[in-house]
Amino acid sequence: MENKNAQYSSVYRAREIWTDPGQPRIFAPAGINTFAVMLGSGKPEPTPHRYGPGGAVIANQTPYLIDAGDGIWRAVANAAIAHNEMMINALSPNNLTRLFITHLHSDHAAGLPSLILLPWIHGRTRPIEIYGPIGVKNLVESLLEADQADIEERVHGPEQKDDIGWRATAHEIAQPGLVYSDENMKIEAFHHPHGGFKQNFGYRFSNNERIIIWAGDGIESDSYLEAARDADILFSDASPVNNELVDTPWRGDQKNIAKIFHMQSRRLAEFASQANVKTVVLHHEQNYSEPYDPDILVNEVKQYFSGEVVSARDGDVF
Ligand SMILES: [Zn+2]
Ligand SMILES: [Zn+2]
Repeated sequence: MENKNAQYSSVYRAREIWTDPGQPRIFAPAGINTFAVMLGSGKPEPTPHRYGPGGAVIANQTPYLIDAGDGIWRAVANAAIAHNEMMINALSPNNLTRLFITHLHSDHAAGLPSLILLPWIHGRTRPIEIYGPIGVKNLVESLLEADQADIEERVHGPEQKDDIGWRATAHEIAQPGLVYSDENMKIEAFHHPHGGFKQNFGYRFSNNERIIIWAGDGIESDSYLEAARDADILFSDASPVNNELVDTPWRGDQKNIAKIFHMQSRRLAEFASQANVKTVVLHHEQNYSEPYDPDILVNEVKQYFSGEVVSARDGDVF
């Protein structure tokens, strides 16, 4: 069948750009104090229905943000409004002070200026602490430098805003291992192979209630397997079993390159079985099926994994 959208720029051809996945849902068990919320389930494609990559683990009303894709500040509000009793206080501007970046691909960091500066306009009086691979310091400091005119006007102009809430401190993670801990949460980074990056981290969030793995983009490895063992929830990217079957922007030789960047659905299923994970949540899906089948990757994973599998929508709570 002729692709009716063939006349459009290739970025608009994929049906997922056009498809609203629906209202956010709650999968977290009632009464639990540790849960994860999908802030942005998208990737670089500019669908209006999914924000760029990002999420948060929330424990005892304290949020730990992961990645800052395009639209992250709106994605935070989207989740807060959808589940206001559960998280509107947790996601108040003054609580958005801890961010863990998986890697420095721009789709995972394009929202940084908004996450650093816009909550300050709306009441954040504390600096944001940003953890990530080597290079994150340069990124954060360059962004602040680039925004000097805004900061100076707000601090020294008629608003007389406080001189602290705009600040951001970058912490470069030299080695995988323990990155952060407080009374609610222990956060460990593990190495996660992804294209040509020397440093690409997945994060393991654990406390006495749950183990939550936010893997970000990438493929399987021994250290990833070790980190994911017995996890309650594994957030993973996913690409199709057979890239040749779908109309993907990864064309020609690029189709093979996709396999070293993103977790293939069948390999993900086998990995999750081996790691004894309970629930797999897909986001950043490379779903270019035509005609568009929103469940194609979920169904591929389910063929080889007996646990729960969910294709995330923005605002879903797990
Ligand atoms: Zn990436
Ligand atoms: Zn990405």
